[in-house]
Amino acid sequence: MISALMPTFKRVDLAFEHGQGACLYTADGRRFLDFGAGIAVSSLGHGHEGLVKAIAEQAGRVMHVSNLYRIPQAEKLADRLVAHSFADSVFFCNSGAEANEGMVKMIRKTQSGRGHPERTRIICCTGAFHGRTLAMIAATGNPAYLEGFGAPVEGFDHVPFNNMNALRAAITPETAGIMLEPIQGETGIKQADPQFMTGLRQVCDEFGLILALDEVQTGMGRTGKLFAHEWYGVTPDVISVAKGIAGGFPMGAILANEEVAASMGAGSHGTTFGGNPLACAAGNAVLDVILADGFLPQVERTGAVLGETLDALVRKHPTVFELARGRGLMWGLKCRLPVAQVQAQVMAEGLLTVTAGENVLRLLPPLIVTPEECREACEILSRAAQALEAAEQQKNKTESQTERHA
Ligand SMILES: *Cc1c(COP(=O)(O)O)cnc(C)c1O
Repeated sequence: MISALMPTFKRVDLAFEHGQGACLYTADGRRFLDFGAGIAVSSLGHGHEGLVKAIAEQAGRVMHVSNLYRIPQAEKLADRLVAHSFADSVFFCNSGAEANEGMVKMIRKTQSGRGHPERTRIICCTGAFHGRTLAMIAATGNPAYLEGFGAPVEGFDHVPFNNMNALRAAITPETAGIMLEPIQGETGIKQADPQFMTGLRQVCDEFGLILALDEVQTGMGRTGKLFAHEWYGVTPDVISVAKGIAGGFPMGAILANEEVAASMGAGSHGTTFGGNPLACAAGNAVLDVILADGFLPQVERTGAVLGETLDALVRKHPTVFELARGRGLMWGLKCRLPVAQVQAQVMAEGLLTVTAGENVLRLLPPLIVTPEECREACEILSRAAQALEAAEQQKNKTESQTERHA
């Protein structure tokens, strides 16, 4: 019989009762170091005093009023995001896919406003992940996510990531913009080449295209800058964020420059829940921490420690791990053994991770993680690797014995 909870996820048989900082605890008291952070969401970790207090206080006053009224908490959050980014205006919604949907609408509307209603197509990259709505599975382009859902929504063309020649060749008179992740998360932490990112801005200016970045995973401090595109010195026209923006409260946002934002007049887009007082109170509490003096440089430093320790781990266990790649607190460990097997062993040793494409184990700790916790995580990874190496040796020995007997 089907479970009451629809079985769309292959779940691990673990339930957590509470969390504190970078750790999660089961009801029977087992401690796990959380280097998944609910898929890069719990940016302040668990039980963060400021965030918990902000949510509790706001919930007690008023949670939701709808966007028919002014929402001071949303105005404040938008002001702060504008003050700390390229953007001139912000639209709040509830998830990453919803932010990307709105972003694609804005790209088309901007082109329409420029007198180019025929420009509707978006160039995306292979290996992308943009979410699970009908349009976003088409933007993602992964056949596994499209299977069984009918004809993909029209309007998305795909080119290989980091290939400027292919991208230029894909531009047609119907191209409206380019949408991509500065670092592909779900595909295994693959970074855009600096020349590719710089080239994207040039190509968009040359052909009058909108440069849209999906910073749902890379944004809100994950890489050690508020937004990953800052590392490249490239200014996008519009970006989407979600995941870490409200520290675990469901929220998304679209940050746009004046032209793109102005294309969206009253009535052009909407949301019932988006940017409600409760979500924005959570978002402001997260920003209080992330924008505090020295916080982002600390994410960068802690990330560097994690990166160095992971490199040493790869050198120590070359039969289990192939390489480590990442930036800030967004790391991928490419495995030589099947990643599911590595993840299970690592979990048995008390470390939670997320898998990604290309046989990659993803490490996305809360941004408040300490260098000591990063070292502890790497010790756990090393213990797991030792156990896996021993099991492999045992397996090879048994196999060669079987062969000799045969
Ligand atoms: C997670 C993710 C999404 C989808 O976000 P949801 O909140 O699950 O809809 C989109 N783009 C990127 C880059 C993501 O990592």
